[in-house]
Amino acid sequence: MIAFGPVPSRRLGQSMGVNNIPPKICTYSCAYCQLGRTIKVQVKRQAFYEPTDILQEVGEKIAAARDRGEPIDYLTFVPDGEPTLDARLGREIRLLKPLGIPIAVITNASLIWQPEVREDLMEADWVSLKVDAVQEPVWRRIDHPHRSLQLAAILEGALAFAHSFGGRLVTETMLVAGINDGEAHLSEVADLLSRLQPAVAYLAVPTRPPAEKELRPPDAASLNRAYQLVSSKTPRVEYLIGYEGDAFASTGDPRVDLLSITAVHPMREDAVDTFLARAGEDRSTLHDLLGQGQLVETAYQGHKFYLRELRQGTRSRDPASAARQTRA
Ligand code: SF4
Repeated sequence: MIAFGPVPSRRLGQSMGVNNIPPKICTYSCAYCQLGRTIKVQVKRQAFYEPTDILQEVGEKIAAARDRGEPIDYLTFVPDGEPTLDARLGREIRLLKPLGIPIAVITNASLIWQPEVREDLMEADWVSLKVDAVQEPVWRRIDHPHRSLQLAAILEGALAFAHSFGGRLVTETMLVAGINDGEAHLSEVADLLSRLQPAVAYLAVPTRPPAEKELRPPDAASLNRAYQLVSSKTPRVEYLIGYEGDAFASTGDPRVDLLSITAVHPMREDAVDTFLARAGEDRSTLHDLLGQGQLVETAYQGHKFYLRELRQGTRSRDPASAARQTRA
C-alpha cells in the first residue's frame, strides 16, 4: 500500500502517509527503529515505484477520505525506510502538489549532503531532519549508518539545506538512555540545532519495541536536562512521545490540560502553581497526579520540574497509526 491514512499526528494534524520505499530499505539501521532491523542498508538512490502510480493511489485515498468527510492537512512521505533513497522523490512531490495539500517529508537526513537530495526536499512544504548525534561514535552506536556515510558531510548538508529551505523545517532527536543523552553530547547537539534554526526541535524517545530490545528511554531527570539544554539555544522545543494530545488547546479540565502541557515540555514548579491558581485549583491537584503516577517530579539547577509520566504519554487511540507517524 503506497498511501495510508489519514492518521492523527501531533505535528501535522490529519496526515495522509505516502510510503514511497519498499520495506525496509534504509541508509540506517537505528538501534531504536520500531520497524526492526533494516533488511537492506543502502545509500544508492534508485527508482522504486512509478510516480504516476503514487499519484493515482494518493488521489484515490484522498477521494475516499473526502467521501467520509475526513480532512487532510498534509501528505507526508513517511515510508518503511528512508524516503530520500527514492531517486524520483522530487518528481513525485511536484506531481502531488496540484492536489492542493501541503507536502511533508520525514527524513533521517543521511543523504542530504547530496545537492540533488537537497533539491528534491526543497519541493516540500515541511521537512523533518533527524539529528540524533553530532559525535561520530555516538552516531554509529545509535543510528548504525551505512559504512560509506560521513557524519561531518551530513551535518554540513543539513546546514546548507536549512539556510536555503523556504518551507517549515523541524528537527527530531531520538533520545536513548546511556547512548546520546549525556550532558556533553547534548550540549553539542543543542549547538548544532541553534545553527539549523528549526521552527521546532522535537525530542523523541523510543515508545514502541525497538530493534535492540534492551534500549530504554532516558529517565525524567535526563529528559528534563535535554529539554533545558536544547531550549537554552533553540526558541521552541517540544517532546514527541507518541501522545497525540494538544497542549495548546484548553479542555477546561485543569488535570487534562496539565497532563497535555507536560507531555510536550516540562513545567517548572512556579509555572504549575500559576497554572493551578488561574484554574481555581490548589496543590492537591498536583499531588493527586503525582500520587497516581501520571506526573513525575525532577530537579534541575535548583528548580523542581514536572513531566508527564512516559508510560502514560505513550498511550494512543491507534497504536499502529501512531507508529507510522512517529517513526523515522
Ligand atoms: S528509524 Fe528511520 S532512519 Fe532509522 S532505521 Fe528506522 S526507518 Fe531507517
